Amino acid sequence: MLFRKTISLLLETLFPRFCIKCGLEGRYICDWCLLFASESEQICCSCQEASFNGSRHKECRETLDGLISLWDYDGVIKKAMKEVKEEGRHSLLQELIENALLLFERDEQRFKDFLNFLIDEETVISFVPSHSFKKRERGFDVSEKLADYLCKGLGKKREVLLKRERRTEPQEGLNRENRFLNVSGAFSFVGAKREKVVLVSDLWISGATMKESSRLLKENGVVEVWGFVVAKIS
Ligand SMILES: [Zn+2]
Ligand SMILES: [Zn+2]
Repeated sequence: MLFRKTISLLLETLFPRFCIKCGLEGRYICDWCLLFASESEQICCSCQEASFNGSRHKECRETLDGLISLWDYDGVIKKAMKEVKEEGRHSLLQELIENALLLFERDEQRFKDFLNFLIDEETVISFVPSHSFKKRERGFDVSEKLADYLCKGLGKKREVLLKRERRTEPQEGLNRENRFLNVSGAFSFVGAKREKVVLVSDLWISGATMKESSRLLKENGVVEVWGFVVAKIS
């Protein structure tokens, strides 16, 4: 199957891993603990109601054309993301992407449309960047790393299309209206002209950041944009 070879390639580069929840050796999240991670129901990025395959409802309007979220931001997934951000363990992101590819393989029906878009030759994988100050402080950019690992798994090249021009408040602490204000005009377009883009980010909270990024991509000639996030806060 499509991803089998790339996944085993990724696994070959393993250092010893221990489950962040139960301590078992082998993976950062062992198979048992992963069973308890709740997989996301896909939603329409506009009305936030269910959408089987993550595509935006035809009657709904939004700058994004689809959204794929893998897990709910809870339990072991929340713990993993915290360890990435607070302790700088970005190798955890690699395993999350490996698990994502396995999820895609297991539920081909649900992810078929997104996968076709993702592996299309014309589709470029990019990410929602954090501010350069934040990246220096942490040593890496979470969304950029996710995009890198995803590209590695697919044999694609990651492209920089956006730049964050100003620092923004963390979205978690703001209400819905302020989240949109917070990110309005925060990015500039710095890439080449592209038609199809998968925009990678770590979290979907209200979607404000992803939607603002996508709006800018479309203003600069991109025709179709799908968002891809590790986890969704519902
Ligand atoms: Zn475990
Ligand atoms: Zn909708």
